[in-house]
Amino acid sequence: MTTDVTIIGAGLGGLTLARVLHLHGIPATVYEAEISPTARAQGGMLDIHEDSGQPALRAVGLMNEFRSLILEGRQAIRVLDLDGTVLFDHDDDGTRGNPEVLRGELRQMLLDSLPAGTVRWGHKVSGTRALGEGRHEVTFADGTTVTTGLLVGADGAWSRVRPLLSSAAPEYIGMSYVETYLFDADTRHPASAKAVGSGSLFALAPGRAFLAHRERAGTLHAYMMLARPQDWFADIDFTDSAAATARIAKEFDGWAPELTALIADGDTAPVLRPLYALPIEHRWERQPGVTLLGDAAHLSLPNGEGANLAMYDGAQLGKALAAHPEDVEAALTEYEQAMFPRSAAAATEGIQVHEMFYGAGAPHSLINMLTGHGQTP
Ligand SMILES: Cc1cc2nc3c(=O)[nH]c(=O)nc-3n(C[C@H](O)[C@H](O)[C@H](O)COP(=O)(O)OP(=O)(O)OC[C@H]3O[C@@H](n4cnc5c(N)ncnc54)[C@H](O)[C@@H]3O)c2cc1C
Repeated sequence: MTTDVTIIGAGLGGLTLARVLHLHGIPATVYEAEISPTARAQGGMLDIHEDSGQPALRAVGLMNEFRSLILEGRQAIRVLDLDGTVLFDHDDDGTRGNPEVLRGELRQMLLDSLPAGTVRWGHKVSGTRALGEGRHEVTFADGTTVTTGLLVGADGAWSRVRPLLSSAAPEYIGMSYVETYLFDADTRHPASAKAVGSGSLFALAPGRAFLAHRERAGTLHAYMMLARPQDWFADIDFTDSAAATARIAKEFDGWAPELTALIADGDTAPVLRPLYALPIEHRWERQPGVTLLGDAAHLSLPNGEGANLAMYDGAQLGKALAAHPEDVEAALTEYEQAMFPRSAAAATEGIQVHEMFYGAGAPHSLINMLTGHGQTP
């Protein structure tokens, strides 16, 4: 392949693409806004799905490395009622097929698999422009530019590449997460540690919820979900961590103390994570020399699939380019024609998952699914 490949974004999707291209001898450069691999905490545990994340990891040839990152026992699930009553408790007996890993470790594994210099850190894209004949110019925040024959937007929700293809913009989905960590929880927060157990905890009511995972050792990573408009959150000063903690905790008045401690006793300042999505059927007309993958293409309601799909897209795009080295447009068409229906189907399924977790039937809708008495989405 003679075209130079420029990937914007060193998230899981962009790095998977870079690695598959590397395995096929196709050089690529990844431009990433963050100044270093450790500039930002990379978020929590991801379960890597049998039909999306795992095939992507096979495509990058890193299954052994991936296995070494798996956090054993973390596929355990507990569902608690608001008063702390355990409604569902399932140990990780090795029968579930979606092992959990830490996102930061998975990203580092992909970074380590690329030739030095593949990722250019501290390159925040500020704009992109079509030059004709499939070539594009990318402008960085410092005013420098590069031109490329194949531009891939793997730059997440607020992609700077997407405007070349589509006028769609993410919209707030009506709910946000507030994120906290509790460290050394078995010793310092034993009631919450016991409630979370060895894997994931869900305590759900319509419109509000606690979600928590046990990460490495005694680290608990918790999300409080609230279905509130953005204006409501805007009235909370998250720079005043004590006041923000108290305001969010107040929304869970009357819930069991081992649950409310996940916000009230957090060891980190609460971080607001507003949730956005693109339209479910988001797609575009083929434009020469540019495409999107992952959240840039199909940011969806949270359904535990986004990172898996981003990696799958990266692997599929890389394989399509390797299969059509002399015909980039054929590769992009093949990739997009499979990606559009795949991501639309996942987003539709995501709405069902979302309803099951946060809708009027919660938590029993989730328990029915877990016990096999409901429709598995
Ligand atoms: C709270 C939360 C929990 C989630 N949990 C799960 C889960 O359990 N399982 C799961 O599968 N998915 C989960 N997701 C979804 C998942 O995080 C995303 O779908 C996934 O990260 C998308 O990967 P990506 O590579 O497309 O984009 P990203 O991971 O967003 O990576 C994009 C990269 O591009 C860089 N970038 C952005 N803008 C620019 C720019 N202008 N110039 C240069 N670089 C830029 C960013 O710094 C970043 O490194 C969760 C999401 C949230 C918000």
